[in-house]
Amino acid sequence: MLNLSIVLEDSARQQPDRTAIVFGDLRLPYSLVDTIANQVANLLVSRGVGRGDRVALACPNLPYFPFVYYGILKTGATVVPLNVLLQPREIAYHLRDAEAKAFFCFEGTPELPLGERGRAGFEESEPTEHFIVLPATAFATESEHGETLWAALDGVPGQFQTVQTAPDDTAVILYTSGTTGQPKGAELSHQNMLLNAMVSDEMFPRSEGGDAFLAALPLFHSFGQTTVLNLGFRRRATIVLMPRFEPGPALELMRAENVTLFAGVPTMYWAMLTRVHDGDAVPSSLRVAVSGGASLPGEVLRDFEATFGIGILEGYGLSETSPVASFNQLGRPTKPGTIGTPVWGVEMRLIDGDWKTVEGEGPGEIAVRGHNVMKGYYNRPEATAEVMNDGWFRTGDIAVRDADGYYTIIDRAKDMIIRGGFNVYPREVEEVLMTHPGVSLAAVVGVPHDSHGEEVKAYVIRTQGATLTEDELAAWARENMAAYKYPRFVEFRETLPMTATGKILKRELR
Ligand code: AMP
Repeated sequence: MLNLSIVLEDSARQQPDRTAIVFGDLRLPYSLVDTIANQVANLLVSRGVGRGDRVALACPNLPYFPFVYYGILKTGATVVPLNVLLQPREIAYHLRDAEAKAFFCFEGTPELPLGERGRAGFEESEPTEHFIVLPATAFATESEHGETLWAALDGVPGQFQTVQTAPDDTAVILYTSGTTGQPKGAELSHQNMLLNAMVSDEMFPRSEGGDAFLAALPLFHSFGQTTVLNLGFRRRATIVLMPRFEPGPALELMRAENVTLFAGVPTMYWAMLTRVHDGDAVPSSLRVAVSGGASLPGEVLRDFEATFGIGILEGYGLSETSPVASFNQLGRPTKPGTIGTPVWGVEMRLIDGDWKTVEGEGPGEIAVRGHNVMKGYYNRPEATAEVMNDGWFRTGDIAVRDADGYYTIIDRAKDMIIRGGFNVYPREVEEVLMTHPGVSLAAVVGVPHDSHGEEVKAYVIRTQGATLTEDELAAWARENMAAYKYPRFVEFRETLPMTATGKILKRELR
């Protein structure tokens, strides 16, 4: 049966000379990426790794990522991508939890000492037998942290017969905290991942003459993996790698490489807009902009449309759903502010705490069923049973649905603030705050309060040059929101804490 690595293999067969990867001055054709992936596969097989095994990969967006990702898949083994910000103890936890047999780890840089952390994590993990360093200098054969990829690949052939996998074989295990607790590995099959990339591919408009994607989302996260890497390779696009998102360099790369498609989280759009308002040029080649991972604030959407001259298509999903579950799709009217309708082959409904369907508009918790829903959490039947029932997966996200079947996320259940018995949805408060001209970005959380249980607090980044004070904003909010909703506390910040993907870390703010 089909192996997810077909998205690379088929493109390498059909258009071997087309540029698959751009990284700095490097331009790698599809044929070369596929050949190196074949070498990685041969290497793994020679070390006793194959179908049914798991192999971890900790690497930012560098050419190594596709080499190793597809190399692992070709052997029939499962890829376990790790967040590059993990500390040694956490790396050891993931390696043990996934029972990874081998671990490919980027050597790192002074700013990201990943090789050191990876080595320390590897040494604490009993099941992991092989540690292979992806060196910071291309083709380096030595590293202080261990055997390098290039030394290991010396003399290894570039042809490989891809292992045929069953549709239900696990292709990747993506670690996520889910709605609660310890990181758990969402097990996604070849069918989950392949169909999600293909269904998303049909929904993202194509550009004549081929596409160039900017890979600013980390490829170790589901959003970047499916909608940039697998989708991009399937449509034979050129993927321009950015190891770490920064708005100025992102805009520069878009202009230099004629990028046609950008997928990002809302804070990336916000940061690029800030740059453009500071005088940076808008990239004229951009045709399609896709947002997901968190709610896209209405102000950001309007500003982007006015500034970039194109809309942003918003979608929704989770690691557990490969990730795309719904989208503002081609051929149907887009509704700004909504997450669109379920994608092909996927059903969504709203449920209550007992899995009972909530009819009509809602609100309710989104449940998803279809080819995109994970097999379960790896080795965690109880955690799986909490979120899965008769093929349905409960997401922990609260939404409403309009008469045309479009869903709008109100908030995550766990971010909801209960103030004196009233439910306050941070997203709603953030949307109102961001209509104030002095507010550039707002993040609202609940903080403990003696008599109300929780109180509403806003962290705000001011618009450049604005002189707004905390008291002024609190007074304005009071005029513009119901008494139980408006933030009693306002704190200005220069930056807000974010995950590696660029989502605002509410947990840390709380
Ligand atoms: P992750 O598993 O890291 O991909 O995170 C999934 C979570 O991101 C979901 O449960 C939602 O809370 C959030 N999310 C994803 N897309 C959207 C969206 N378009 N609007 C609001 N929240 C979103």
